[in-house]
Amino acid sequence: MATIGFIGLGNMGGPMAINLAKAGHRVKAFDLYSEALVPVVEAGAVAAESAVDAAKEVDFLISMLPAGRHVEHLFVTGETPLFDVISEDTLIIDSSTIEAATAKRLSEIGTGRGLQFIDAPVSGGVGGAKAGTLAFMVGGSKEQYESAKPILECMGKNIFHAGDHGAGQIAKACNNMLLAILMTGTCEALNMGVKNGLDPAVLSEIMKQSSGSNWALQLYNPYPGVMEGVPSSNNYQGGFQVNLMFKDLGLAMDLSQQSSSPVPMGSQARALFSLHKAKGNGGLDFSSVLRLYQDENVDQ
Ligand code: NAD
Repeated sequence: MATIGFIGLGNMGGPMAINLAKAGHRVKAFDLYSEALVPVVEAGAVAAESAVDAAKEVDFLISMLPAGRHVEHLFVTGETPLFDVISEDTLIIDSSTIEAATAKRLSEIGTGRGLQFIDAPVSGGVGGAKAGTLAFMVGGSKEQYESAKPILECMGKNIFHAGDHGAGQIAKACNNMLLAILMTGTCEALNMGVKNGLDPAVLSEIMKQSSGSNWALQLYNPYPGVMEGVPSSNNYQGGFQVNLMFKDLGLAMDLSQQSSSPVPMGSQARALFSLHKAKGNGGLDFSSVLRLYQDENVDQ
């Protein structure tokens, strides 16, 4: 069994660290928000006193932070950069969703100092994190992928080697742009059906069994009351914040700009999430974008 440092115990990192502890690994967990440690420690992890404490004398160090600036600050630009204290034997696995360019740069800075840093962002949401069924998209060498795989398998079902450093983040940006398109499209269709007198549960079931079926309809229905255990049935609390989806769409737009790839659908989805966020919904789960359509409904 391995000793694993885990930094960032939020909606995703918390259940991921719990699964590592349940698999029998020695987990040294840390979050700036001390309450986040409680369920992780209850599951058998050790509470680290600081990020530095979590990062020392571990075989693997996993970070699960909101955005690239947090990851860069933690490892390189902060007051106590972890790159100063991490051992050359530790494999650093960043599972946060960040810019591919930042992931690549951090791996290069790390390599220059004899350290190993790979990107391994995830898909599958909080449900997947809790169930241990996440998909991991790894960017790094074949050897680094092979050594990370048994650890990632404690938290996920599908562990992909996307390519070299940064490739995991490129795959993630493509996936989340598609997810945003699918979620807004699903909300658009559900709202129109309900406006025309259909029961949202009946319409959802019809589309789920028809050619419009997609991940949102199957596992993350945005309409309140249609599906149990998803954010829409919990006042859009928990889950994947609008703020984070908006960040991910920004990452996709950057990639499209850098590579001159046309993304008209992604741009439209980004505009919808931008408007939804501007209306003060940044802290809600991203499936709450349904409300944007409901707000725009006009009585006939
Ligand atoms: P979150 O905001 O719930 O959790 C982030 C945690 O990081 C918080 O607990 C915060 O206190 C902690 N943190 C921030 N800076 C820190 C630091 N310097 N040291 C220690 N702890 C620190 O976010 P989340 O939903 O868990 O998402 C994390 C990452 O995973 C994001 O990059 C997100 O885009 C990605 N992601 C989220 C989902 C989802 O469904 N929520 C799905 C896939 C990927």
